[in-house]
Amino acid sequence: MLSSHSKPDPWFGCKYTMNIYRGCQHQCIYCDSRSECYRIENFNDILVKINAPEKLTQELSSKRVKGTVCFGSMNDSYMPIEQKYKLTRKCLDIIRQFRFPIHLMTKSDLVLRDLDIIKEISKVYAAVTFTITTSSDAISRKVEVGAPVSSKRFAAMKKLSDNGIYTGISMMPILPFIEDTKENIESIVMGVKESGGKYIIPSIGMTLRDRQRDYYYKKLDELFPGLSDRYRKTYGGSYSCECPNAGELYSLLVDLCHKNNIQIGMNHYQCKGVDEEDSQLGFV
Ligand code: SF4
Repeated sequence: MLSSHSKPDPWFGCKYTMNIYRGCQHQCIYCDSRSECYRIENFNDILVKINAPEKLTQELSSKRVKGTVCFGSMNDSYMPIEQKYKLTRKCLDIIRQFRFPIHLMTKSDLVLRDLDIIKEISKVYAAVTFTITTSSDAISRKVEVGAPVSSKRFAAMKKLSDNGIYTGISMMPILPFIEDTKENIESIVMGVKESGGKYIIPSIGMTLRDRQRDYYYKKLDELFPGLSDRYRKTYGGSYSCECPNAGELYSLLVDLCHKNNIQIGMNHYQCKGVDEEDSQLGFV
């Protein structure tokens, strides 16, 4: 169940990553998990790791390094099917018993269902990061088809923040020629402020490769006719597709975050354990 990393990653602080499902019902048109390297042939078919709680119990029993367990790297742990299986909730309860820290990354307000357990885990460390790429629910409905719209995510963030949970957003991707406007950046920052979010983890652009790119361009042709040609002319076959005005938008973001007391990047849990490298991340 747990993939272990030698050091916590610098963006999200993940020492362990966990995916309870394979495939994702949120069906974001830009999703990187469609890339060939992940070998998920049909991303629409959801594979459920029904024995996840038992496996997690075994694996946590043998972990000598206490580090952050991250949910949501290859799919969303709070996709609609979680309402039926409750596997994320069961796994959180196991993590609570082992007193490990967590970082939940989601696009769904279903995370509020587990507020009771998250509060308990937050005595060790708990962070909940919502991915928000646009402040517009209309655009969110188009590009994050199966996920609750951005306004619902902001409302969920407010509830978590009101309950003392460390929360913020991952502002990635910002889709070139769709979401890369000053107005979008400004209203996202204001949304984070009004919802009690403490941090923004930004990337002003997106990545594109093989099957992911094919799917994305097909969806652009349906939803934003003519735009895929603009992508082809601007980026060719590049993996990294930074918004042409990324520098300007990043400066604006830094300025707005500074004025509104929002941190760029998040604080991480400091790993504890006999095997941890000297260069581990601290609480920053
Ligand atoms: S929520 Fe995340 S994993 Fe799921 S489709 Fe969207 S980008 Fe992919």
